[in-house]
Amino acid sequence: MMNAEMYWNPVLETLPPERFQQLHLKKFQRIFQWAYEHSKFHHKLYSEAGIEPGDIKTFDDIRRVPKVEKAMMRSVQGKEPYPYGDMLCVPLEQVTEYHQTSGSTGQPVYQPDTWQDWEWLAESWAYILYAHGFRNYDRVFIPFGYNIFIAFWAGHYAAEKIGCEVVPGGVLDTEARILKMQELRATALMATPTYLLRMAEVAKTKLGIDPARDLYITKIATGAEPGGSIPATKKRIEETWGAKLYEHSGATEMGAWNYECVAQCGLHVNEGLFLTEIEDIDTGELITEPNRIGKMVVTAFDRIAQPCVRFDSKDIIQWSPIERCECGRTSRLIKGGVIGRADDITKVKGVLFAPSSVEEVVRGIPELGNEYEIIVARKGEVDDITLRIELLPEHKERINAVQEELARQLRVKTNLRYDLEFCEYGTLPRYEVKSKRFKDLRKGG
Ligand SMILES: [Zn+2]
Repeated sequence: MMNAEMYWNPVLETLPPERFQQLHLKKFQRIFQWAYEHSKFHHKLYSEAGIEPGDIKTFDDIRRVPKVEKAMMRSVQGKEPYPYGDMLCVPLEQVTEYHQTSGSTGQPVYQPDTWQDWEWLAESWAYILYAHGFRNYDRVFIPFGYNIFIAFWAGHYAAEKIGCEVVPGGVLDTEARILKMQELRATALMATPTYLLRMAEVAKTKLGIDPARDLYITKIATGAEPGGSIPATKKRIEETWGAKLYEHSGATEMGAWNYECVAQCGLHVNEGLFLTEIEDIDTGELITEPNRIGKMVVTAFDRIAQPCVRFDSKDIIQWSPIERCECGRTSRLIKGGVIGRADDITKVKGVLFAPSSVEEVVRGIPELGNEYEIIVARKGEVDDITLRIELLPEHKERINAVQEELARQLRVKTNLRYDLEFCEYGTLPRYEVKSKRFKDLRKGG
């Protein structure tokens, strides 16, 4: 008999910080040795850096281990053992799962997993859903088809693992999904912020269904985009759905390494399964103090087919100043989720610019629709930044006031001036899973 309470794990979730360090050292030694001994790629990488398993004696020694970047993975893949290449740490016969990254930042990376890895992934997701308050009385609707991308596969199995009833809403279209949720009185949902807003729009405009009033959803697990941690977007989704929105983040090659608990005060690193380091973007120095942004380096302790050892995620995060969460977990909290990607943080007119800061402003203005598009282009010698937004039809006469307020907030929050372009409601692109709202036309030219 399965015990759902095991995902509130007093051994792994309430250790004092020094015990976490001991645990991390031991677990790191084990996965480092595994990678060193079983993959030619890792063996070469570490040998060239002059480091071998016996050299990792203290927690600080972990910092000497070279990082792995996505580009390095691409360069070994597509070769024997096909298609995973030299990173593979198990015989091909032991691989039971194939997935790949979405390729939004270039050529997709292949992700092989063994059955043990697959169970580990579901396990890591079980911690996420349990922390979100998912329980065995929930009926969980998953409005996505499962395919070569890893998203939602693990969510499905994890929900089953903690005893929920799972409704796979894959092949249905958006309207049919909403009607099915209503018919079955689904109480929980998993979706990206983009799709949650999209579904709500379709429910209201096409079906006359108000998700907060006419559906039964009380909790939503989200991820894959920054939206779940952007306060204005979170508020908009929670109000629209009449439900609590909980975030987590992760990626195909890392696993899902953090989660929000019901106290909603940041994202807990799942320190039982992962090591998360934050490094200064320019100097690479380790950041331990709160509120300073840096690049995340992650290690998954228990994934064996294609291990994730000091993976340079390029995700931008910061530690939270909260030392003790009221939920009782002692694992470290990050503040505001993944703020952006190092690749997306760019300089515009000499100012450091993160596209997510614009989302916070747009979604905080009630007269504006959910969609927006940011286009950075070079006009002569200067950068030009255009923001395209949609005014809700019922607020048409307020366009001047909205424009003024938008320009003011953007100036305050991002230190930049924008060309504001109001588009007819419904004309900006709608996205089903992940959005592409930031376009930098300066690149490559
Ligand atoms: Zn908590």
